[in-house]
Amino acid sequence: MKINIIGSGVSGMTAGIYLQMNGFETHIFEKHSIPGGLCTSWKKGEYIFDSCAHWILGSDSGSSFYKIWNEILDMKKIKFHNHDIRMEVGLKNNTNKYGDKTFYLYTNLSKLEEYMIDIAPEDTKAIKEFIKPIRVMQKFDLPPILDDLPLFKSILRGIKMTRYLEFLYWFLKIKNYTNFTYSKKFKNPFLKESFELLYDGDEVNMMVLTLPLSVFDKKSAGYPIGGSMEFAKKIEQTYLNLGGTIHYNTPVKKILTENGIANGVLVRNNIQHFSDITISAADWNFTVFDALDGKYVTNEMLDLKNKKSLKVFYSVMQFCFGIAKDLSDVPHFSRIPLKEPLISPDGTEYNRFEVHVYNYDSSLAPEGKTAVTVSFYTTNQDFWIDARKDDRPKYRTAKTEFTIKVIDLLDERLGDIKDKIEVIDVATPATFQRYTGNWKGSTQGWLPGKNLLAKSPVGFKLPGIKNFYYSSHWNQPGGGLPIAIKTGRDVAKLICKEHNVKFKVLPRTI
Ligand SMILES: Cc1cc2nc3c(=O)[nH]c(=O)nc-3n(C[C@H](O)[C@H](O)[C@H](O)COP(=O)(O)OP(=O)(O)OC[C@H]3O[C@@H](n4cnc5c(N)ncnc54)[C@H](O)[C@@H]3O)c2cc1C
Repeated sequence: MKINIIGSGVSGMTAGIYLQMNGFETHIFEKHSIPGGLCTSWKKGEYIFDSCAHWILGSDSGSSFYKIWNEILDMKKIKFHNHDIRMEVGLKNNTNKYGDKTFYLYTNLSKLEEYMIDIAPEDTKAIKEFIKPIRVMQKFDLPPILDDLPLFKSILRGIKMTRYLEFLYWFLKIKNYTNFTYSKKFKNPFLKESFELLYDGDEVNMMVLTLPLSVFDKKSAGYPIGGSMEFAKKIEQTYLNLGGTIHYNTPVKKILTENGIANGVLVRNNIQHFSDITISAADWNFTVFDALDGKYVTNEMLDLKNKKSLKVFYSVMQFCFGIAKDLSDVPHFSRIPLKEPLISPDGTEYNRFEVHVYNYDSSLAPEGKTAVTVSFYTTNQDFWIDARKDDRPKYRTAKTEFTIKVIDLLDERLGDIKDKIEVIDVATPATFQRYTGNWKGSTQGWLPGKNLLAKSPVGFKLPGIKNFYYSSHWNQPGGGLPIAIKTGRDVAKLICKEHNVKFKVLPRTI
């Protein structure tokens, strides 16, 4: 049975790997010349700039996600770096009792708890209540996903699952908080301001902070040395070793259908590639409204277009600099307050900026030099996307003007780097959209907003069309690499089930 897959992002390649393992003949059609989609890094001059894998859930054994990663690549061959400090948050208004204006988000939970109590003993109860659910999360395999067990094992697991009630209790207790609302639990002004500043605005659910902390402490959410492209290429290699085919530089224009049955794809030069099953692992908006002409939609999907239900995850202005300076003593990730608000050309007002110093991966820059990125998240993606499409000079000017301001800020932060900048590369929301097709340049699909239990209306199947499946980070709010592999694996399992194939996982071939 032949299956066409649109997109060689992590989700598409993962689906392809499991389908090849289960006897299907798969072909991936990818518009770009390289694998990985958003899981990417690129070389410019002597530097490699990374745009994804700051942390990969399941980088160490003991997590379900590790088991899945290990099914599609040899995890033991990847060196992961685990940070002692997740990020350093610079405060504007408060100092702690040591006169320090920086909040250190330690990844070791005991250290974090001790540090917080030391600087705010009056908040001991609130601090312990903050740490407690994170510790509870650690006791469980989150999310419990290896569900292809034989029946009796599933029953046993079902009994074990009742233990998850403890997790549920804590989950319900914090699920309606954002870092902003949670900050009000602290009396200490330094701690209060620190929590307010962990993320911008009042959008980001506390689980987005607590879940990673539960895995950072276990050293199971590391950064893969070599960067995201190396990581993606390993997945590509597994797929190719299993006999899969990737057609690069081959954008899909339409999904072919006959009487409500998907039967292939139409690619550039109007070439048709027929198949028994079609999977789209590309952007949801392109898939539903362009490739399928909006014929197979639910009201919930239409609602998404009108921005009434889920919000799109932030896009990002990513300023990459190759700096001829050893920055090994600089914090690897910090959020720094700005003296004056910075207004982006897209109208967003920023009160701080984020700096990533890749001093922990020597493969990204020659000795004595460092790759640095500055990120500004935005929800005004359309400004960049429209400007690039309709008014290229305006787009270029906006990019240049913003870059000059960012260099000034970085120079002040890192001290005397202006004349040491050897390479500059700027990615805007238009760049992310152009290279990967992601709607509005979203970096992770839908934003997990205040309602953490919100589901994506874009499921594995669309109404009214047979032999078609959809798999990507747009399947579940929050997105990220774990969702990409989980959806790829799950869609392969679903196809096996619906075509009477007993799902199996082969031992790795590399
Ligand atoms: C700046 C940044 C930081 C991130 N940090 C992290 C992190 O630390 N940890 C983490 O887990 N995740 C992170 N992510 C998110 C993660 O990269 C994504 O959620 C994940 O890679 C999405 O995978 P996907 O396969 O679902 O989609 P995509 O990666 O978008 O793959 C879709 C593929 O389809 C192709 N395609 C699209 N349209 C067509 C077409 N018409 N024809 C053919 N091919 C097409 C695209 O080119 C692409 O290759 C980050 C993302 C960004 C941008």
